[in-house]
Amino acid sequence: MSEQMLEGVAINPTLTVKDVRKSFGSFEVLRGIDLEINLGEVVCVIGPSGSGKSTFLRCINQLETIDGGAIWINGELVGYRRAGNRLLELSEHEIARQRLSTGMVFQRFNLFPHMTALQNVTEGPVQVLKVSRKEAEDYGRELLDSVGLAHKCDAYPVELSGGQQQRVAIARALAMKPTLMLFDEPTSALDPELVGEVLSVMRSLAESGTTMVVVTHELGFAREVAGRVLFMDGGLIVESGPPKQVLGSPTQARTREFISAVLS
Ligand code: ADP
Ligand code: MG
Repeated sequence: MSEQMLEGVAINPTLTVKDVRKSFGSFEVLRGIDLEINLGEVVCVIGPSGSGKSTFLRCINQLETIDGGAIWINGELVGYRRAGNRLLELSEHEIARQRLSTGMVFQRFNLFPHMTALQNVTEGPVQVLKVSRKEAEDYGRELLDSVGLAHKCDAYPVELSGGQQQRVAIARALAMKPTLMLFDEPTSALDPELVGEVLSVMRSLAESGTTMVVVTHELGFAREVAGRVLFMDGGLIVESGPPKQVLGSPTQARTREFISAVLS
């Protein structure tokens, strides 16, 4: 076990989610989510469309506020601070700071179109983290190299395939040195022949100890890479466990139905 892991284990889980609830109007999208993720864990989330998977990631990343329960990242309460026995909402500024602890990769890559791959990766560190341009570029090149794009540093998004753009998006998220990486169906918008290159980058990240929550329909990836698989349905985690169990011999009928629908 590395020193970093020892520190992490000794302090807090990387992510703690307790009874999280979220409604849009009268529709309760998340109906009490509980989850704990430790440093270096890779958790894949599967489930039908509309089950609340994206909303859940967006709550962790504070793109949505929650209506009940609480979320901690590295032991720090997300979105609120305690004042005596009351909880006060954090300011926009404090939320922006907290949001840096998660790196999010979406289905659509959302790169800045007028910036090269390297500029996309260095923009955040330079503007937000106030890292020197030299340092940001050195690390940016290293990251682009690690996602197989050392030769594309100077290319603009329009000159890159969807798979390459998504790999730049991953490098861009990593450049902010997040505690936790969140992936929301990162390969769903890609042509089938480009899915593999993105999954292989994610696999390397997982192997290098990155703490990751991955919403995906790629059950093969989940089986091979995840330490744990969660099946969500109707705003609840219906079933969770090692991939072999959840994907191979699920206990819940809904999980079985979903898996056979995805595989057919
Ligand atoms: P999933 O990612 O599992 O497909 P989502 O989290 O995107 O599910 O959505 C869960 C449910 O919440 C869906 O019924 C969706 O229509 C609804 N929903 C998501 N975002 C909003 C929003 N901003 N306003 C209203 N309803 C929303
Ligand atoms: Mg979604």
